[in-house]
Formats: sequence, C-alpha cells, structure tokens
Amino acid sequence: MAAKRDYYEVLGIAKSASNGEIKTAYRKLALKYHPDRNPGDKEAEDKFKEAAEAYEVLRDDKKRSLYDQYGHQGLEGAGFSGFGGFDDIFSSFGDIFEEFFGFRTGRRSQSRASRGNDLRYDMTLSFMEAAFGKETEVTVEKMVVCPECNGSACAPGTYPETCRQCGGAGQVTRTQGFFTVRTACPQCRGNGQTITTPCENCRGAGKVEDAKRVTVKIPAGVDNGSRLRLTGEGEPGSNGGPPGDLYVFISVQPHDFFERDGVNIICQISISFVQAALGDDIPVETLNGEKKLKVTRGTQPGEILRFRGEGIPSLRTRERGDQIIQVMVKTPTNLTKKQESLLKEFSKLESQKLSTRFKNIFKGDSGRKEDSARAAR
Ligand SMILES: [Zn+2]
Ligand SMILES: [Zn+2]
Repeated sequence: MAAKRDYYEVLGIAKSASNGEIKTAYRKLALKYHPDRNPGDKEAEDKFKEAAEAYEVLRDDKKRSLYDQYGHQGLEGAGFSGFGGFDDIFSSFGDIFEEFFGFRTGRRSQSRASRGNDLRYDMTLSFMEAAFGKETEVTVEKMVVCPECNGSACAPGTYPETCRQCGGAGQVTRTQGFFTVRTACPQCRGNGQTITTPCENCRGAGKVEDAKRVTVKIPAGVDNGSRLRLTGEGEPGSNGGPPGDLYVFISVQPHDFFERDGVNIICQISISFVQAALGDDIPVETLNGEKKLKVTRGTQPGEILRFRGEGIPSLRTRERGDQIIQVMVKTPTNLTKKQESLLKEFSKLESQKLSTRFKNIFKGDSGRKEDSARAAR
C-alpha cells in the first residue's frame, strides 16, 4: 500500500483550518465520492475512505494535535489505524451523514443489509429418475416476509418510533482515553427505531414461517451426493439484503439389475456353457429397453462386454457413458440321461483330442531331432 497522504492535503485545507472549514471540506468530498453515487468505482471508494479517515482525525482535537505533532505514526501508536471498510465509516459517521445528506443513507451498520439463510432439502430419486432427470415440485418450510406488515414488523396503521435513548442514531458513545468509542444502542439494538405496536401476525419479527412450493429441475445424470443450488430460493434477506439459496441434496436408490459407476452402468448376464462355446445373440436390458448382445464363440466366464453410449449422461459434457456387461457362464444341473451321455461322449472326444495333441507335439519334437541329425551328417 502506498504511503498515507497528509490529512490536510487530502481534505485540501490549510494546517490552520477551523473545525467549520474541516467539516465543509469533508462534506464536499464525501458527497462527491459517496459510494451510492459511484457504484463499483474503486478509485472513488479509495478517495471516500481516505477523506473519511482524514476527517475522523482532524475533527477531533485530541487526535488532531497528536497528528500535528507526530504525524501518522503518532496516531498508530495511540491505536488509530484508519477504517477497515465502509461499514466502519458509516458506523462512525452515521449521524453526520444524516446531517450532511438530509436522509439516512441506509448504509449504517446497525441496519446493515444481510443475506438470507441458505436452506437444505433432501431428495431421494429412483435409479431411472437420476439417469434421465425430471422436473418436480417440493414443499420447503421457510421464513418469508410477513404478508400482514410487509416486513415492517409494525401493526397495520402504526409506524416505528425514533429511539429515545440514542435519538435514532442507533449508537451510544462513551470516551475511552483519547478516543470516543461508539457502540450499538442497547435500547433499540442499533436500529435507531423502536416498534411500539408490533405486528400480531409475525410478533414484530417481520417474517413468518411458511410452506412454499418450489419447482426443481433435476438434470439427467445426477448421482448419490449430487447437490443442486436454486439461487434465491432460500430465506429472505433483511434490510434489503438478497435472499439465501436452496440446496437440494440428492440420494439415489439402487437398481435391481444396474449398478452405477460414474457415467457407466454395470450389469451381469448369465449364459449357458453351450452359448459361451458356440456364441449367440442375447437380449440384454438397457436404460432404453432391450438390445441384442453379440456373444462370440468361446466367450470365457467373467468376460467383459460393453454397449457403447448406453450409460448415464455426464452432467458436464452430456455425453453418455457405457453399459458394461459381465458375462457369467452357468454350469448345467439336473441333466437328463440323454444329456449326460452326450456330455460323456463330448468328454471322451475332448480327452482324445488332448492325447492326439500331445502325441503330435512329441512326434513333432522327435521329427525335428531327426532332421537336425540328418543335417549334421
Ligand atoms: Zn436506540
Ligand atoms: Zn408482520
């Protein structure tokens, strides 16, 4: 941060300026750089803060003489280090701004706008609903602006009264060493106003609990633990603050046939050992109905086959994952006599095949030896 400018220079006044001149100079700058007039202007914001700080020091005789003698360091030594932000400035100058501008700026810390609470809603979806998404309405219990008093908290026909203890400033002051400390008024709790006849409907809270129907659009592809944010569907803010958000937490029920793995779905099918040996086209359930799966000759138990693009859509890319199919091979039970004898026959052929292969290997080996022996001769 750049070195602090001289306070007299900031306000554009002479070192000998009177209290009246200081006030006038500050008033001019505060009006020019007020954040309500320069929304989003960083330079104006800095100028406004700089002027406020200069005024805070120079309007106070003790701080001013400390500054005149020891400069910025003298003030820091005594515990004054400027303002943290607008809220500090407005809480210090609330009364002065009212005097300057002839109205309440609404930025005073005691009526600071605050954002409404966020809400949580837990929703359970079926496997298919999560895969395809859906639009649904939910009932959310939340605090809403009281319809009787429109949030004013006053009974119809009555108005808040200016607090007698603080005269509406919302603050009381006390002196602590060099400095004047301002705290929120205990009577009105900083509001500057008291409500003498509270609204009966909300008991003076300005808000009541209500059940509200909210439409929730669930995108295809949500998963267990997905969280949807519905901006502005939370509780209302206070003093003009924005409402909170509604978070919908998703949990997905399991499916009898499909299991989910991110964007892929996994399933298992059983085929007979004959189908595994000879190959077959087998109907398999997909998210979009039945589809024929080609099982090739000689498929082994546990082999993985897949339908590309038959999985769940990705929430980000909308591209669908795959359906992964694990092939299980059933061993036949309760064989008939005929089947049994055929299998025995099959087995005999299988062992003959094996012994022939062994014989051939042996023969092949000795044959090669003879060849090499002949070649050596
Ligand atoms: Zn008060
Ligand atoms: Zn009310």
